[in-house]
Amino acid sequence: MSGIAIYHGSEAGQPGLGIQVSLPATVQDLLDAWQPLCDDPTIFKQYAAGNHALCKGCQLNCCHTAYVIPDLVSFRRMAQLMGLTHQEFVARYFQPEKLAVGLMRMIPEPCIFLQDDICSIYPVRSLICRFYLCTPLLGSTEQLIYKIAWSGAAATQLYAQQQGLLPAPAPGASSFDLLFLNLLDEYRDSPGVESFLRARDYRDISLHHFLEPA
Ligand code: SF4
Ligand code: SF4
Repeated sequence: MSGIAIYHGSEAGQPGLGIQVSLPATVQDLLDAWQPLCDDPTIFKQYAAGNHALCKGCQLNCCHTAYVIPDLVSFRRMAQLMGLTHQEFVARYFQPEKLAVGLMRMIPEPCIFLQDDICSIYPVRSLICRFYLCTPLLGSTEQLIYKIAWSGAAATQLYAQQQGLLPAPAPGASSFDLLFLNLLDEYRDSPGVESFLRARDYRDISLHHFLEPA
């Protein structure tokens, strides 16, 4: 049985979705519990048609503007799906200007994988994409999912540096880029990042790395 429960709660008088985790549980358990929210028209979604629609086919799509640095499990799966080496994958699907400043950002606006308002790599999309939902979340839940997604992204950055996929950073980072670089730097020595570096599957990554001590 999954150790994850999704619930409707409130914080400072405002409603929000929350996640309750009972260990042991993995990132895959969390994804299994989270995915139905994207397909649930009863959930309030700020940008969805009529505020209540499936994410699939959404035209005010977060995929038009998303800043996606994929987690390492997704990075490997996407490259495999395309039948590309990691080097070829980076060269074709990542934004050259961001690679130049040291960031593994996929080509945006709209995301290079968005076709006819639908994600063309949906089963292997990254955690940033899987967790984003334009609905209010409780603070601890927001913190948990961002910690997981950014740990995964930091692992991709580290892997890319180790494999020589990222050039030595050149000057020219925008203040927004610097924000991401600093954030990724904060995560790089964490046990969660180490876990992403070792994992081949989200089932290999325990959620205990990302939970605040009780
Ligand atoms: S989360 Fe993204 S795809 Fe889903 S309704 Fe909101 S903007 Fe649209
Ligand atoms: S990878 Fe897919 S879900 Fe993520 S931003 Fe691109 S099109 Fe959207």
